[in-house]
Amino acid sequence: MYAESETAWCGCAGCGSVAELPAEETAGVDVPCPDCTKPMNEMWSWDTAA
Ligand SMILES: [Zn+2]
Repeated sequence: MYAESETAWCGCAGCGSVAELPAEETAGVDVPCPDCTKPMNEMWSWDTAA
C-alpha cells in the first residue's frame, strides 16, 4: 500500500547532493549526507524556491 506523506528535499552544502526523505524523519534532525557525511539542509522543492 502506498501512503502519501510529506516529503522533504534535503540538499548537501558540502557536495551538492540532494536526497528525498520523509519529512517526519528530517524534522528537527540533522540528516547526514550519504556521500560526505556533512549535515544536509532541508529544502522544499514545491515551495516558491528562490
Ligand atoms: Zn554531501
